[in-house]
Amino acid sequence: MPASLRSELSKNAAFLKTKVSRQAWIGLFIAASTIFIATAIVTYLKSNTISLSGLIDAQSSNPTLWVINCFPFLFLLWGQYTNTIMAYEASAMIVDQTEALRAQTHAIESQAMHDATHDPLTGLPNRVLFYDRCKQALLIAQARGYTVAVMLLDLDHFKDINDTLGHFHGDIILQQLASRLESTVQAPNTIARMGGDEFAILMPDLDNEQGALEMAHKIHLTMETPFNADKLSLDISGSLGISLFPQHGKGVDTLIQRADVAMYSAKKSHDGFAVYHDDLDEFNPRKLSLMSELRIAIEQDGLQLYFQPKVNLADLKMIGAEALVRWEHEEHGFVPPDEFVTMAEKTRIIQPMTLWVLNKAITQCALWHEQGFPVNVAVNLSTKDLHNPQLPDVFTGLLALYDAKAEWFTLEITESGIMADPDRSLAILTRLHDMHVKLSIDDFGTGYSSLAYLKSLPVDELKIDKSFVMNMTENADDATIVKATIDLAHNLGLKVTAEGVSSPETLSLLKALGCDTAQGFTISKPLTSENITHWIEHSDWKMTALA
Ligand code: C2E
Ligand code: MG
Ligand code: MG
Repeated sequence: MPASLRSELSKNAAFLKTKVSRQAWIGLFIAASTIFIATAIVTYLKSNTISLSGLIDAQSSNPTLWVINCFPFLFLLWGQYTNTIMAYEASAMIVDQTEALRAQTHAIESQAMHDATHDPLTGLPNRVLFYDRCKQALLIAQARGYTVAVMLLDLDHFKDINDTLGHFHGDIILQQLASRLESTVQAPNTIARMGGDEFAILMPDLDNEQGALEMAHKIHLTMETPFNADKLSLDISGSLGISLFPQHGKGVDTLIQRADVAMYSAKKSHDGFAVYHDDLDEFNPRKLSLMSELRIAIEQDGLQLYFQPKVNLADLKMIGAEALVRWEHEEHGFVPPDEFVTMAEKTRIIQPMTLWVLNKAITQCALWHEQGFPVNVAVNLSTKDLHNPQLPDVFTGLLALYDAKAEWFTLEITESGIMADPDRSLAILTRLHDMHVKLSIDDFGTGYSSLAYLKSLPVDELKIDKSFVMNMTENADDATIVKATIDLAHNLGLKVTAEGVSSPETLSLLKALGCDTAQGFTISKPLTSENITHWIEHSDWKMTALA
């Protein structure tokens, strides 16, 4: 018996004993009264009167009274003894019953807990427990630097089995598979049934991807032996999707989502398994949730605007900066702008995003001009912005709000953006140009704009795409394209900026080819507004402040 119960038992016994002792004292009082009455009767019968001397005489001479006199003491002793025993027994009974009740409650609770965290058909952990274990595994893996693998296994054509043999036999196959998986996927790994014919595997402490691939191989092996249902031998295959922490996500939802994407890809390719890869993620629901999070980030000022300097190649001094949006997502970390801007373009989120970027860019530009630095700020516009007839008016309103001038800005547009709806774009671009905003064709060389059309556009600058610039010192073809573009632009009366200038040699070559402006990592990576302000004043490319 545990010590706590033993002490509870003595406490209960002591309590009951005090209660029964009170009854014993009442009994003693009744017995004493009986002795007195009996002595009084004997005295009266003897002397026809009751006096103290008569009572003493009766007590000292009558042996019957002596015997009666002993009873109260005998009763007292006996009562005390039996009551103590009874109190102990009663208390022990209560304690026993309490203990039994507790054990019963515990069993019911454990069963309820088991039912809530396990799948009734296979007895495997269910989705709830799987998520819980994943969360714990990620916490530990983060602290210890482990790789965690999350895998989803979905049976191929299981619906056909259910439809042909019925759910009863479908369930038997799931149970057989569960038993096989349970013996293949051993602790500390977890195998869970997520629902239907979908199983999940958690591998919490891997060194690298290899361990997950080996497990995928074993799972396929375990499924090679045919399953039995309704006296039939059935070949059943499954497709596995694998995602890894930390490469593919930091949270459980993301990892499961990405394992799901990989699993669907494995199903499509009939490869048996696939490891998550960004390219697989085209239409996945994660993107939809990212979009709603992007909207919130815009509303709550959760994005950042970075600036990458542009230098004039004639004197190697800064003349402007390109505003580049950044999004540090709480769970996914840095989301590349190419990714979320493309997604935002497919939805209506691009408009509030452009508005947010314009707001920040104009505020910062106005501040620089106030400090005497005549920085020209370039802002990227997307295709949808070029189809928004309100854009010139919104821009004018913001310029007035921050006391800024249109000529301090360049708007970068892509060839494909213009070509998506040339007439509409032209109308908007013409209005912007009339306001004296500079217009630049970004990523020039990657689109299909006709030269004839280019001539009719009110643009000021061509920005040669970085894919030609980055390797132009090693690749003669790239160098030829860059040179031809510079000549073409100058012949059309346009300025040229080269982006993606990542070495001093490229910078020298561009200068030699007569390029006007350069932008790239060899000059500076994109910087926060505070860092670029410092850069403007102190770098080798610093800008001379106007008086
Ligand atoms: P972009 O407008 O062509 O911007 C230039 C991209 O080249 C930037 O990438 C910049 O970081 C990168 N870059 C510059 N120099 C170098 C270099 O020397 N080496 C290499 N490897 N890369 C260099 P980022 O910031 O990732 O932006 C990618 C694209 O996302 C941008 O291409 C633009 O199309 C889009 N984007 C960025 N910010 C915005 C925005 O505010 N609005 C819109 N609509 N699009 C944006
Ligand atoms: Mg750009
Ligand atoms: Mg570009």
